[in-house]
Amino acid sequence: MSSDQSAVSAFQQYVRARILEHLRQSGEASRTALAEVTGLSRRALGGIVDDMKQAGLVDEADADRGPDRGVGRPARVLRLPVRQEVTLAADISPDRLRVALVDSAGAILSVAEANADIARGRSHTVGTLVALARSLDRDEGRHPARAVLGLPTMVDYERQLVDPAGARALMPSWTDGATVDEFASALGLPVTIANGATLATLAELRLGAGRGRKNFIVLGIGHEGIGSGIVVDGRVFEGARGFAGEISHVSVHADGVICPCGQRGCLAAETANQLRLFLQARGVDMNAEAYEELSTASAQGDPAVRRLFADIGWQIGRAVGSVANVFDPDAVIINDTLTEVGDDAVTQSLVRSITQHTHPGITAGMTVVASDLKHTSILAGAGLL
Ligand SMILES: [Zn+2]
Repeated sequence: MSSDQSAVSAFQQYVRARILEHLRQSGEASRTALAEVTGLSRRALGGIVDDMKQAGLVDEADADRGPDRGVGRPARVLRLPVRQEVTLAADISPDRLRVALVDSAGAILSVAEANADIARGRSHTVGTLVALARSLDRDEGRHPARAVLGLPTMVDYERQLVDPAGARALMPSWTDGATVDEFASALGLPVTIANGATLATLAELRLGAGRGRKNFIVLGIGHEGIGSGIVVDGRVFEGARGFAGEISHVSVHADGVICPCGQRGCLAAETANQLRLFLQARGVDMNAEAYEELSTASAQGDPAVRRLFADIGWQIGRAVGSVANVFDPDAVIINDTLTEVGDDAVTQSLVRSITQHTHPGITAGMTVVASDLKHTSILAGAGLL
């Protein structure tokens, strides 16, 4: 199965790398699509692809038929070979830890979760994660080859570091440069860290509402905050350091509160502040239970809560519109882990606000859709990474 690298020219190696990267991002592609990606003729590409098939680097198979694709000969597509590798995936949020065994196609084999307060420091999360991981091993008898951790903060992906500006308020003890090493030695596995929203975006592209789309925004809304990522030209756009798509720090209020990042009026700071002030006036601390109670009150028609949620949805939509105006997406995918799109005051207002704050020319070709991956998106994305 091994290929003789010395027989492969530098140019062929470059083309191979482009093909592998494209398949990693998009899941599958036809020879025609790969010819476009690489800029080669189909004939020139064909020889390289055939060599790659022979070397076991890619597989070629019939494309999956959609429900309404007719009865003609199915198209042939290239995919990466299915690795029989299992990933220990972790979705680390400020107050909850989800851990799963995930295969390389993003299928979740076993999952466990527990409350874990990230503010108690990194070692608290490490301890909880190790305990959850042990329970998974026993349940399934499967042994992961690596761990991929999705974090609720900005991660310098190339250097595998938690960004201090992003983590200053929420998780300062994670920024000493030792995060990967501490998890790796506790788990006994190679560890990769990534921004959770980036993993969720990869999952939407490969398995979710983003399948078949080339340019879209993924928006994750939960009681713990807002996460987002963007797909440009069929690939998760990472930016220079992996910080791209950070909608939380789009300024939505010129005279707003100062965000822990040092800017004023950031979306995340504004929405958190509004929630905090509202709950403070009612004598309640902000946590998952408090948010659930608010959601219930909103569903029951509490006018003050509905107004609060409408304002928050409107602000999120303002930020989404700014991003949409910059790169002309064909969809906004909303993964609201609290309620279904359209069912509550936040998302109703959000959808109206996105339309209001996006250029009509862009809105005309853009749909707003709900994700059905819900709480599995970050875990599935970890398996796909
Ligand atoms: Zn900020």
